[in-house]
Amino acid sequence: MKKGYYGQWGGAFIPEVLQATFESLNKAYAAARNDPSFWQEYVALMGNYSCRPTPLTYAENLSRHLGGAKIYIKREDLNHTGAHKANNVMGQGLLVRRMGKKRVIAETGAGQHGVATATMAARFGFQCTIYMGEEDVARQRPNVFWMEKLGATVVPVTDGSRTLKDAMNEAFRDWVTSMDETHYVIGTVCGPHPFPEMVAWFQSIIGQEAREQIVQQHGRLPDRVYACVGGGSNAMGIFQGFLDAPDVDLIGVEAGGMGIDTGQHAARMVPGCGASAGVAQGYKTMFLQDPEGQMLDTHSIAAGLDYVGVSPILAHFGEQGRVRFESATDAEVIAALSLAMRTEGLIPAMESAHAFVQAIKEAPAMSPDQALIINMSGRGDKDIFTIAHAFDDPSWKEFIVKRAEAYR
Ligand SMILES: *Cc1c(COP(=O)(O)O)cnc(C)c1O
Repeated sequence: MKKGYYGQWGGAFIPEVLQATFESLNKAYAAARNDPSFWQEYVALMGNYSCRPTPLTYAENLSRHLGGAKIYIKREDLNHTGAHKANNVMGQGLLVRRMGKKRVIAETGAGQHGVATATMAARFGFQCTIYMGEEDVARQRPNVFWMEKLGATVVPVTDGSRTLKDAMNEAFRDWVTSMDETHYVIGTVCGPHPFPEMVAWFQSIIGQEAREQIVQQHGRLPDRVYACVGGGSNAMGIFQGFLDAPDVDLIGVEAGGMGIDTGQHAARMVPGCGASAGVAQGYKTMFLQDPEGQMLDTHSIAAGLDYVGVSPILAHFGEQGRVRFESATDAEVIAALSLAMRTEGLIPAMESAHAFVQAIKEAPAMSPDQALIINMSGRGDKDIFTIAHAFDDPSWKEFIVKRAEAYR
């Protein structure tokens, strides 16, 4: 297979000026991968900065409630900044230090990747610029607040629809003029090679741990593993622990939004979602686009899943049938979030709750000697603004109005 391709998917469609930058990135990444001390340093860093290894929690109450398979939950919510994103940014941080660069840039939609990148930059002493659509800056004030307080410069992007893809274009524009001292921290297993492979490598720490933990607790491998899929990094992270075991079913759950047939969703792999193959943002994958290749507007209750493309690696595994894709609607997500809170006292992020939805649907038809793992990619308590809004909680609304008045 050609380097950086997964079947027909992937590649590196980059402007001429960035060729040399990508060459040096490929070299640094290859050297790190071939150096066992790099991975050891990474594991040690994640162990003393971000609560790794994260636990695998047996959800006894939820399992009993559903009356089928034993449910285990991989606790990526316990990472610093509340999600698996820390794995990727800290890994790239170590690589940036090796390359001797002093500045990082990133684009962010909901702001979660921006916050993770800003913490990494502070920790490593890098300068940090985060590009964010003006629309998103307005919607995601709490995350912008943290990025700025962590020392990052947040640049509102006023082009186009003033959202994620415009921020991405702006970040590339920055990189073209600053590549000698700057690294672009891509946030998921997407973008031009080597990003999908490199980010998947950093996230594989999830699957490595989960495999060991499930064998220890359950005595053997699980029957099914569930993960939500935005760009695909938490899914690829946990799936890599089980790819070589054909009896372990891998299930990726996409954002069904208001329903696949409404067009108001962010599913790119489930049948009937309307996505098609294309090349954009430096790589080939399934995109939600119109016949002219213009990207469509997506919708999800979970900002982290609200993205037009999907990992080329997952596009390949989907095509091969190794990963099965399902979708969860916004309404199903709220119900699953409630159930997880009430039965287990866990507060999944709305992204992660998509994986819970599908596991909750399937567990009752499985037998009690079977086991499944849900990858809980992040925690929901940090997203109180969006979650309280989604629950349509009247006393929360009253609180917000009172607060606003107090500032007037
Ligand atoms: C960003 C995010 C996601 C989506 O990103 P992937 O690359 O698909 O993993 C999922 N869950 C949480 C909690 C996130 O913050």
